[in-house]
Amino acid sequence: MLRRALFLDRDGVINIDHGYVHRKENFEFIDGIFELVAEANRAGYVVIVVTNQAGIGRGYYTEDDFTALMNWVGGEFIARGGRIDGVYYCPDHPEHGVGKYRRESNFRKPGPGMLIQAAHDWKIDLPQSVLIGDKLSDMEAGRSAEVGTLLFLSGEACDLVELSRITNLAEAANFLITECNDGMGGKSSF
Ligand SMILES: [Mg+2]
Repeated sequence: MLRRALFLDRDGVINIDHGYVHRKENFEFIDGIFELVAEANRAGYVVIVVTNQAGIGRGYYTEDDFTALMNWVGGEFIARGGRIDGVYYCPDHPEHGVGKYRRESNFRKPGPGMLIQAAHDWKIDLPQSVLIGDKLSDMEAGRSAEVGTLLFLSGEACDLVELSRITNLAEAANFLITECNDGMGGKSSF
């Protein structure tokens, strides 16, 4: 049986996007993220982080640095009653990547590669899943992967009609609660 997922971009959704965050000292959790993840866990969503990490490709930090930071992040969620199930990241950049990291990649958003890989690994029903991102590239990745609900956490203007705009993570948590109570629903309607 396929499961629903809550896909989360990282910078700008889980933590404040200070640009190439790679130390826990600079990792500021965004209000409502712990409650949102705990709610998603309760509602039976697989919680998956999908994040471009070109800072690795640019040589600002290493894959080991990233993994260590995300292990710490995972522990912070556990300590607050939530659980991140999986983390997918793309270290590549087509122009600024150094060495092996300089390449075009379908895994780099707006490519859908990370979402499709996660769906395969976790047996996820993409049309019944939810993605939250703060950039249009997140939304485009979600659209390409046919994720059913795209929540755009941003004031940025856009003309993608199939997504829903949210201004804070509490709105996303409310959406999950409503979806859960209504059964398998379609688009958000708030
Ligand atoms: Mg972001």
